[in-house]
Order: sequence, then structure tokens, then C-alpha cells
Amino acid sequence: MPCTFIRLAGCPLACVYCDTPQAIPLDSGKQQSFAAIEAALRPINTPLVLVTGGEPLAQKNCIPLLKHLLSLYKHVQLETSGAYDISNVPAEVSVILDIKTPGSGEVARNRWENMKHLRANTEIKFVLTSRADYDWAKTQLVLHNLANQCTVLMSCSWGSLNPQDLAAWILNDALPVRMQIQLHKVIWGAEAIGV
Ligand code: SF4
Repeated sequence: MPCTFIRLAGCPLACVYCDTPQAIPLDSGKQQSFAAIEAALRPINTPLVLVTGGEPLAQKNCIPLLKHLLSLYKHVQLETSGAYDISNVPAEVSVILDIKTPGSGEVARNRWENMKHLRANTEIKFVLTSRADYDWAKTQLVLHNLANQCTVLMSCSWGSLNPQDLAAWILNDALPVRMQIQLHKVIWGAEAIGV
């Protein structure tokens, strides 16, 4: 679905596969009012808006921004590293919550308390770097009963894991997950930014 990204600057994590390192420094962004954001969104006019980062929940005004966007859009999504509390995110917002695998280098940052706040409109995302990550993700799937609570996505870390291998493993295990491809990299190339 056509989607506008609002990318909030700053992230305290350092995933080995980060594809937006340009958004990690806090000073990579500039302060903007909600009115200015709304004015920038108006001519783009997509049916969906996604607040991402960096790590958007690291900013105290992220929740007020989500509430403001709900007054403008039918579909609002939040993509978060899973390291921050999601309990205050409005129920109408679809949360895409990463669970960081061992291969990400940031597995210790997973905030497992968030598993108590999953909803039918939540999407859990595993970015996998290897077979070991896949096996670890399968364990988390069972341990936290994820597939019965929300949508589960599995994605290849670009350049680390062959999508054909991941597809074969999922089919072989008949795993109740969706496989995800970084479509923007397929369409515009791995190095393209701002697309
Ligand atoms: S949480 Fe996201 S933005 Fe932060 S380092 Fe990891 S991949 Fe990059």
C-alpha cells in the first residue's frame, strides 16, 4: 500500500544490519511542529502513514504525534525496535515490533514485557541473519505464542541470508508466518535512500 514514512531521528541501538545508519545520530533530524509535519504530508496524500526511525519511541513526543496522525489518517503504523515500552501506543495504531535476534548484535535490548501488549493489529518482525537466527526465532514463536496473537513476519538481513533458503525453511516447517522482502531494495537498489 502506498505509504509515507515519517522518520524520527536518533537510535540508541546499533544493529549490525541497520539500513538507515543516517538516522541514528539524534542531530540527523530537525525539530518540526505537528503543523509543519501535517503541511508536508498534505500534498503526498497516501492512504497510510508510518512513523519509524531511528527508534521513534526514544522521542517523548512520539505518542502525541501518533495521536495527531490518527486524526488525519485511517491507517497509522509505528515501527519500533522493540527496546521501548509500547503500552501507551494508541490501540488504533498498528505496531510493527522488531524482535532483535542474536545475529543483530542487540538481542539484549529486547523488552520482553512488550509481549503482554500484543494486539491483533500488531506485526512482530524478525530480521534474520542466519539459520541460527531462524531457529532462535522459531523458539520465540512458540515460547510467546506469537502466531496466535498477531501477524509474524520473517525477513532476510540483506546480503546475509538468501531469501530462497528462508523460503525453503518456512515451507519445510509449515511455519505460520509471512515472509517479507525489503521491496524498496529490490525496486530501487540496495543503496537508495529516501525512497
Ligand atoms: S533499531 Fe533500527 S534504526 Fe536502530 S540500529 Fe537497529 S535497525 Fe538501525
